[in-house]
Order: sequence, then structure tokens, then C-alpha cells
Amino acid sequence: MDQILDLHPEDFDVTVEPAVTRKTLNAYLRDTGLWFPVDPGADASLCGMAATSASGTNAVRYGTMRENVINLEVVLADGTIVHTAGKGRRPRKTSAGYNLTNLFVGSEGTLGIITKTTLRLYGIPEATVSAVCSFASVQAAVDSTVQILQAGVPIARIEFLDDVMMDACNRFSSLSYPVVPTLFLEFHGSERSLEEQVNVTEEITQSNEGSDFQWARDAETRSRLWRARHDAWYAAQALRPGCKAYSTDVCVPLSRLPQIIVETKEDLMESKLTGPIAGHVGDGNFHCLMVVDPSDPDELHRVHLFTERLGSEDLELGLICPDHRPVFLGLASVPLSFPEMFFLDISSLMLVFRGLNFFFFIFLTCKQVFFPFLLPSLLKPVCAALHGKGYLHDGGLKFLKSSCLSSAIKVLLT
Ligand SMILES: Cc1cc2nc3c(=O)[nH]c(=O)nc-3n(C[C@H](O)[C@H](O)[C@H](O)COP(=O)(O)OP(=O)(O)OC[C@H]3O[C@@H](n4cnc5c(N)ncnc54)[C@H](O)[C@@H]3O)c2cc1C
Repeated sequence: MDQILDLHPEDFDVTVEPAVTRKTLNAYLRDTGLWFPVDPGADASLCGMAATSASGTNAVRYGTMRENVINLEVVLADGTIVHTAGKGRRPRKTSAGYNLTNLFVGSEGTLGIITKTTLRLYGIPEATVSAVCSFASVQAAVDSTVQILQAGVPIARIEFLDDVMMDACNRFSSLSYPVVPTLFLEFHGSERSLEEQVNVTEEITQSNEGSDFQWARDAETRSRLWRARHDAWYAAQALRPGCKAYSTDVCVPLSRLPQIIVETKEDLMESKLTGPIAGHVGDGNFHCLMVVDPSDPDELHRVHLFTERLGSEDLELGLICPDHRPVFLGLASVPLSFPEMFFLDISSLMLVFRGLNFFFFIFLTCKQVFFPFLLPSLLKPVCAALHGKGYLHDGGLKFLKSSCLSSAIKVLLT
């Protein structure tokens, strides 16, 4: 179950078994000039990433698992094996028939076990540069993000860290960046296109009074920078040794992002809570990493109220996904908008299946009543007319009029 199968470099795809992780695949691909870009930070299994529809730092440029899974082999609860795009098929097109693949992507293991996933690969970019840019305020950093995306810069990664998170990362990863709201950026492309992307981005950040870019050009410095970003969770926990971390997961339309981050920071201060913020701001998604003392009931209560406020504000602003999975990491219970999301999920599913039952009812009615009985009776006068005009001889008419017609159609449709 840990094999990398069927690599097709010329078609930019590969099939992997469930135990293959993102890093293992990329190490395997290194000499081919290809890579798989979806990077949720953790070295997760690719089938698990498909099951959770993982996104991450590169999603702004390359999309999430949803856009990068081509086919899945899934074992259903009754043991049936399903190939969501057809056995051995690797189509990029999803409009021909049901998009079964995306029914299973993000289904969190509830619809079946993914035993193989076929993934879309990309060429390793000719050139890559990373940069760090500091801002005087959260609003300026997030405004810059929105404007960079609106300007159509095909930026590969754009990650926001607030001052508290920068402090945590500096301490944890021995860095010395200014302790202010910061953007980590990465550009991919040819040398020429990089220059253009960087120029436009710098113009925008400077119009929002951002600092000069601090560059990470060589692979080692880049990987140190992004390691620091990916270690943000551990860096946040290290702010208060002995405490537990709990991550919220908020996703709003991009235009609402500055407002919600600014309000969240104000709320954290008023509630006297430690909650460094890091986010894939290009997707309108940010995490507030609550660092909480689980033995302090008053603090737990304040976290509870804070996350409830964050969840309801998020819903009002056009939510996509507050963390409705109860990942409490040792906390007694911090229900965010779990009830709303749970009932939303269940009621949507019920609607789908109610719709499906109706569809099947119509289909079965056609199959069992219309085709075997009504269709032959409609055809009989047509056959008689054809016979009258001499197009059909006696034997043909007799055959068509017989029950063979209904039986034949029924057999064809079964
Ligand atoms: C430090 C950290 C940072 C993260 N940051 C992000 C982020 O920024 N963006 C993001 O999108 N995600 C993020 N994640 C979540 C990450 O995407 C998921 O943890 C990962 O995709 C799940 O894969 P896994 O192999 O760990 O699966 P598991 O944790 O083992 O399982 C996760 C779910 O998938 C199901 N599942 C697993 N394997 C299969 C399978 N073969 N078939 C069917 N169902 C299966 C399980 O039943 C479970 O419901 C982060 C996680 C960590 C630890």
C-alpha cells in the first residue's frame, strides 16, 4: 500500500497508494523535473489529503486537492471497488458524466476508503524566489494581498503572520524578522516572468507602506523560511510551555478578510487570550492558534466565548469553513459552529439523496412501465402505417407487433 505506481511524466500524472506521503512523492519525482505542489504543511498521506481535500500554502497558484485529483480507486462499505473516473483512466476533463471524483474528495473517509489516487503533476518552475515583507498594520498587509491578487500576479504562495506569530517564529526558528504583521511570498516562473511578478508586487506593497523585500533566493534559505512558516504551530505552543494549542480555521471571501482579522485581533486582546494568527491569506483563510492553559477554567471559558464569536462572525461574513471538526487537543470542549455545520452537512446530504431517490423513481418508472408497455403501444400504429405504405412486409409487422418488441427493449435497457 506504499507504492508509487504508473508515473506518466509526459502526461503529468502519477498514481499512488494510500501510504505514500507528499514528501515521499516529491523526493521520488525530483529527477523527473516534476512535482506535486499541494502542501498543507504536514507530511500527510496523499490519499488522506484527498479525503480531507487539503489545501495549503501553494493553493493560491496550484489549487487544492479538488483541482489536482484525477481519479480515485475507492473501496465502498460493502466491499465494492469504484474507480471514480473509470478504471485506468486519467482524464483532465470532468464534465463528461458525474464528477464522482469530487464527490469523494473531501468526504473524510465517510463514503469509502481511498486505495489509489491519480494526481496531476507540474513542471518544477525554472526559477523560484521567496521574499519577506513587513507592514505597519494588519490592514496594510491584507490590503496588499487583495491588491496583488486583483492585479493578476500569479503568485505561488502568500502567507500572512501577525506580530505575535512573527515573535513566536523568530524565537522558535532562530530568525530575526521585525515583530510586525508580515507577508511571506513566493514567486515561480521563468526568470523574465519572475521579474515582472516581483516588480508589480513590490509596487503594491510599497503603496501600502510595506518594507523593502528581504530575499530568500537560494534553496537553503527558502527552505529555512518556509520551514519556519510550517513550524508556526509548534512555535505558537512554545510561547507558553505547558499549555495546549487549539487551532481555529476561518475562511471568508477575500474582500472581508482585512475586517475579520482586525476584529479578531481586537477580540483576542479584549479577551486577554494568546492567539497568534497565521493564514493562507490568498485563499481568505486564516488560523488563530489559541494557546490555552487547560487547567484554567476561566481561560477555557473565554476561549469558548471567543471561538463562538469568531464562528458566528465568520458565518455572517460568508463562511466557507470554520473548523467544525472537534479537534480539541486536550481541551474539555470548544464547540465552534459545530452544530450549524453538522446540520448543514447532514441536511445537504439528505437533500442530495432525496433528489437521487426521486431521480431513480422516474428512471425506474420509465424502465418498468414506459418502455415495456407504452412504447410498444405507441409503436404499433407507426408499424401499421409503414406496413400500409409497403415499407414493412407481413412477417416484419407480425414480429414487431409481438411481445418480442417490448421484451427486446426491456432486455436492451436492463
Ligand atoms: C501542522 C499541520 C498544518 C496543517 N495545515 C493545513 C492547511 O494549511 N491547510 C489544509 O488544508 N490542511 C492543513 N492541515 C491538515 C492536513 O491537510 C490533513 O491533516 C491531511 O490532509 C490529512 O491527511 P492524513 O494522511 O494526515 O490523514 P489522517 O489525519 O490520517 O486522516 C484525516 C481524515 O481523512 C480520512 N482518511 C485518511 N486516509 C484516508 C483514505 N485512504 N481513504 C479515505 N479516508 C481517509 C480519515 O478517516 C480522516 O477522516 C494541517 C495539518 C497539520 C498537522
